[in-house]
Amino acid sequence: MILTLKPNTSKKEIDVIVKKIEELGFKPHISRGKEVVVIGVVGQNAILKKDIFGAMDAVAFITPISKPYKLVSREFKKENTVIKINNIKIGGKEILIAAGPCSVETKELLLEIAEDAKESGAKMIRGGAFKPRTSPYAFQGLGERGLKYLAEARKKTGLYVITEVMNVKQVDVVSKYADIIQIGARNMQNYDLLKEVGKVKKPVLLKRGFSATIEEFLMSAEYIMSNGNYNVILCERGIRTFETSTRFTLDLNAIPVIKKLSHLPVFVDPSHGVGVREYIPAMSKAAIACGADGLLIEIHPHPEKAFSDGPQSLLPKQFSNMMKELKLVAESVGRGL
Ligand code: PEP
Ligand code: MN
Repeated sequence: MILTLKPNTSKKEIDVIVKKIEELGFKPHISRGKEVVVIGVVGQNAILKKDIFGAMDAVAFITPISKPYKLVSREFKKENTVIKINNIKIGGKEILIAAGPCSVETKELLLEIAEDAKESGAKMIRGGAFKPRTSPYAFQGLGERGLKYLAEARKKTGLYVITEVMNVKQVDVVSKYADIIQIGARNMQNYDLLKEVGKVKKPVLLKRGFSATIEEFLMSAEYIMSNGNYNVILCERGIRTFETSTRFTLDLNAIPVIKKLSHLPVFVDPSHGVGVREYIPAMSKAAIACGADGLLIEIHPHPEKAFSDGPQSLLPKQFSNMMKELKLVAESVGRGL
């Protein structure tokens, strides 16, 4: 249930309510909106205790949340969540682009790609140091060495680093180097991992599992938020359908649906969603037109030699051309790039 407090409720009164929630064995989650403060009371059957809170002076009204996800929902927070990392705002007016290789390969190559990405207007560099590969014989990533290269790329270009964590044991090392921690599609329902990244301070980009419904996706975000990390970015990256002409089917339906159900920022990854270089610009434009707050794009100067996902990687020149088109689309829907 959600307690909406009367305007101008003092900190002391809020503390009393929070204490009561904890005493009853529930978890309080506070959201400070522009006009009012709301407190999510999370726990099994919390609604049964509603009269206790109804009797409190500071509580204006109580709303039960019928959805299985609570903190993720628009009921909990009306305004869009905007995640700030120094000078960038994720989920604000500006659309943010993360570009980079699928895997971090060599330091020189990463620095070259980072320069290209920056030059074209990307604000973040993506690249995996821990790679979830279908084959155990395929390149598995450089591990911490790759994370160090990403940190060097950040130092050189000012781009923020987004990189994947694959298991609980890697959370410390990945959060040491990353600005945004990525949870891959295959780990969307790795609940132990979700709980662990819920305890760190860095923002998390959660990718949708390729067989997950939107509700399951939002439940996974709830795991992260309910463990204390409210800085979650949802990322649509394509789902499995019967269609074989593309690698996955990019489910752009999910963007307006999620925007209605949740306050969290939404990114789209057309590279994995489509899997074919040629179709990436069209789907990137479509993603921005339908409300995405950012994109994840794979780029590589020699895709034929890439350690992973070469066929879906744009050449730097193709990326810079695409960025010019994206800017026009962004402006046409009242956003910037
Ligand atoms: C990636 O971003 O490189 C990746 C492995 O993505 P996904 O988890 O969406 O397959
Ligand atoms: Mn990839």
